[in-house]
Amino acid sequence: MKAASRTSVRSPRSKNTSSTSVPAQPELPGWIREPKHLLINGKWVEAASGESFATVDPASGSTLCHVAAGAKEDIDQAVAAARNAFESGPWRSMTASERGRLIWRLADLLEEHADEFATLESLDNGKPRAVARVADVPLAVDLFRYMAGWATKIHGSTFPISVPYAPGAQFFSYTQREPIGVVGQIIPWNFPLLMAAWKLGPALATGCTVVLKPAEQTPLSALRLGELIQQAGFPDGVVNIVTGFGETAGAALAGHPGIDKVAFTGSTEVGKLIVRAASHDLKKVSLELGGKSPNIVLADADLETAIPGAASAIFFNHGQCCCAGSRLYVHKKHFDQVVEGVASAARKIKVGPGLSPDTEMGPLVSEEQLNRVMGLLKSGQSEGAKPVAGGSRHGKAGYFVQPTVLVNTQPGMRVMEEEIFGPVVCAVPFTDEEEVIRSANGNIYGLAAAVWTSNLSKAHRIASALRAGTVWVNCYNIFDAALPFGGYKQSGWGREMGAEALELYTETKAVCVRL
Ligand code: ADP
Repeated sequence: MKAASRTSVRSPRSKNTSSTSVPAQPELPGWIREPKHLLINGKWVEAASGESFATVDPASGSTLCHVAAGAKEDIDQAVAAARNAFESGPWRSMTASERGRLIWRLADLLEEHADEFATLESLDNGKPRAVARVADVPLAVDLFRYMAGWATKIHGSTFPISVPYAPGAQFFSYTQREPIGVVGQIIPWNFPLLMAAWKLGPALATGCTVVLKPAEQTPLSALRLGELIQQAGFPDGVVNIVTGFGETAGAALAGHPGIDKVAFTGSTEVGKLIVRAASHDLKKVSLELGGKSPNIVLADADLETAIPGAASAIFFNHGQCCCAGSRLYVHKKHFDQVVEGVASAARKIKVGPGLSPDTEMGPLVSEEQLNRVMGLLKSGQSEGAKPVAGGSRHGKAGYFVQPTVLVNTQPGMRVMEEEIFGPVVCAVPFTDEEEVIRSANGNIYGLAAAVWTSNLSKAHRIASALRAGTVWVNCYNIFDAALPFGGYKQSGWGREMGAEALELYTETKAVCVRL
């Protein structure tokens, strides 16, 4: 999935004035209507160009507010601020414990404002507010708390060394883990707040400074988080937030000579552009990219949990998850029952605006994303895939797609190979376990996978055989701040969350002292 190229500053979504009614929300913050600025060196400033773009409610296509369109000059200023904050000033001299306390304070503030963030996330991204309130926001709070704890636990080791060419000499040798420096972080629109937390948490715990570029489709929660970062007391310049488009602000950040590392989450296609941009001065890169995750239901699976599990694996967040269970492999003994179960769940999903309390699935994030998903559905059907549920756009206003289950799919079809990033699952029967493992692994991606079985040995054997960064057994979409997440193959480089995330933001220095 990739944005169409944008040559000028304009709304990321085309204007659609038709409206799906959004119920009045008493807690809707007045803040949302105000024009939004860039956070550079502790100050909220307009873009150097003076330009802005509209961010839009995808349930209606109506403009929520205008947001500063940052570009190269703003990135230059933000990087300079981050460099200064890294090399001198209070952040540099702060103890690890003080850093941890600031991150914890940010978590507390976020928790205090959880309702407001759930509303912002729902309005800007389209996801059900109730889901944002129980998933996105608490996961972000927890991630910050988890990383706050790490701030005081990042340490090196000592080594007994025996240098063969220095007989009789004595040395004391140790390593220390140092912050990597100034980090550029580019995040996507599917979990705007949570992706900001995944990026900022480990960077701040390790003592880095940051220039964060939110996705142009969903800048609001990151900007509000910027206000809380200031309120928590982070020194100026430690976190800078530059909103803008990928081809301008994003590209300027990824290739900036003043940053030491770029961390990116988004499409594999843009991930490759990031690598190219970062390669001229070999800055460090970490990537969390696309997926086409296999979800395998074995003959001995408990179908009462596997069927709703398979439905939620694909329909959670409208399928706009890099780890969505989009290839559903079912043993032929249960194929009809599982397909009918998932299709029936799909038909029952209440699709509507994210702010409606009974909505279970909101709109896709943008008109561009709607067109992409509809294009892939059309391509699949023209190649012989058959929808047993959904298959079309939902309604005429907003960017809604029906939850869809496709059968009669074949390897090689675009719907089987490409990341759709929408509520569309391809169900495929299998008979032989080795064959299904081959099929599951036969894709350019390797982000996540799942297996449903009541046989413990098979569960572990298949988990070991699957080429994916996460394997869920008898569950799906289970995330925790302590569990590393990232991809094999073209799904990325490095692991976010868990202790492994700290590796992405530190350099190891070996010190050798002759005694
Ligand atoms: P999607 O196709 O789902 O919009 P992208 O991978 O294009 O996902 O976007 C993820 C993030 O990458 C967004 O913040 C976007 O602005 C940014 N981005 C897009 N193109 C580029 C680019 N050429 N260089 C740097 N960042 C980019």
